[in-house]
Amino acid sequence: MILYRAQVLDTPDDPFRGGGLRHDADAGILVDQGRIVERGSFAHLHARHRSVHVVALDGGLLLPGMVDTHVHFPQVRVIGALGMPLLEWLERCALPEEARLADVTYARAVAAEFVTSLIAAGTTTALVFGSHFAPAVDELFTAAARHGLRITSGLIVADRMLRPELHTSAQRGYDEGRALADRWHGTGRSRYAVTPRFALSATDDLLESCGQLHRDVPGSWFTSHLNENVAEVSTVRQLFGGGTYLDCYDRHGLVGRRSVFAHNVHPTDAELQRLGRARASVAHCPTSNAALGSGLFPLDRHLAHGVGVALGCDVGAGTGFSLFKEGLQAYLLQRVRGEEGVPLGPAHLLHLATAAGAQALGLREQVGDLGVGRCFDAIWVQPAPGTPLDIGLRHANGPDDALAKVFTLATSHDVARVWIDGVPVGAGLAEPAPAA
Ligand SMILES: [Zn+2]
Repeated sequence: MILYRAQVLDTPDDPFRGGGLRHDADAGILVDQGRIVERGSFAHLHARHRSVHVVALDGGLLLPGMVDTHVHFPQVRVIGALGMPLLEWLERCALPEEARLADVTYARAVAAEFVTSLIAAGTTTALVFGSHFAPAVDELFTAAARHGLRITSGLIVADRMLRPELHTSAQRGYDEGRALADRWHGTGRSRYAVTPRFALSATDDLLESCGQLHRDVPGSWFTSHLNENVAEVSTVRQLFGGGTYLDCYDRHGLVGRRSVFAHNVHPTDAELQRLGRARASVAHCPTSNAALGSGLFPLDRHLAHGVGVALGCDVGAGTGFSLFKEGLQAYLLQRVRGEEGVPLGPAHLLHLATAAGAQALGLREQVGDLGVGRCFDAIWVQPAPGTPLDIGLRHANGPDDALAKVFTLATSHDVARVWIDGVPVGAGLAEPAPAA
């Protein structure tokens, strides 16, 4: 057992539904075999557990591990290509790089870079868009398992309108996906997600095979893109001959509690109603939406229809792996929307980056806050002395103000330690092992 001593912030109760920030200035968190078994004041816990090894996290803040609900494994090397809308960016930037993952040696190197980048940013759980190549997806799951990342991912399938080498067939997509799911779904912290790239690049036959695979792998997840860009939306409508974008997935049984749709910047009310009824979730990716000029996310309409929303960094259209940056950008974009914008406070941002993601991924019982019974998936934000964040935290006017400063100023460099299931993860982040 280990007793952690820290200033702790989390959001066990949804701030969008009346909850708020939970703050303990000097908390004790007792962890046994990766689980939080007690939480209270440090003095109280220490008095009851005198012999337990104490890890004192002096200064900074202990937060739940971040949960990223939309990020592309093959795109770590193409972050930062600015100045293009979605379809041009895909053709000129993302898809040529995705094609390179046909080479398994290349894919292995990218997988290691990708997983270590996520963990360095403080992301402990992620729903990851895989690769079009099954051996590359296998490399991703292998790297995630090696580094301890809690991951849900799968083979991306497409059968039109990309590049020929990225296309598959309904049967081959099913067979390769099934083999990956047999190997990885439920293995350690890994789960399988059925992943057509988007309806634009998928025929009805391919989406039908996705529905079949989703049904044949119990507990599998489904993820794809939805309503990201106006040109994309109108092309999808033409290709499928009317109906909404969501209908393309819905008619194949792909809209449900275990579905996470990225973006949804341009939804109809009927689509929001359907998502809310199905208890499906939306991954909001604000830096990507701004970088590609996709549009302003209608958070108010999602909330009004009861659609669960969490954050995704959407690397490589997004501008980096940090969900602090995504939280800040979500806040900024809602400000830009004027009266339609949802005013977001620091508790909302932390919730979107942690508990909301856990909820979207069906992992809320395990992770998302630092309460008793949860896995100890946590990050310690401790900026270097003299940095603006360090100065801000030392002069913060209470926990809300401190958390607002973290979302405004923190980068991956400020994430000093990361734990998943109570195990320190990430390069150079290991703490001295306590006596058994
Ligand atoms: Zn994406």
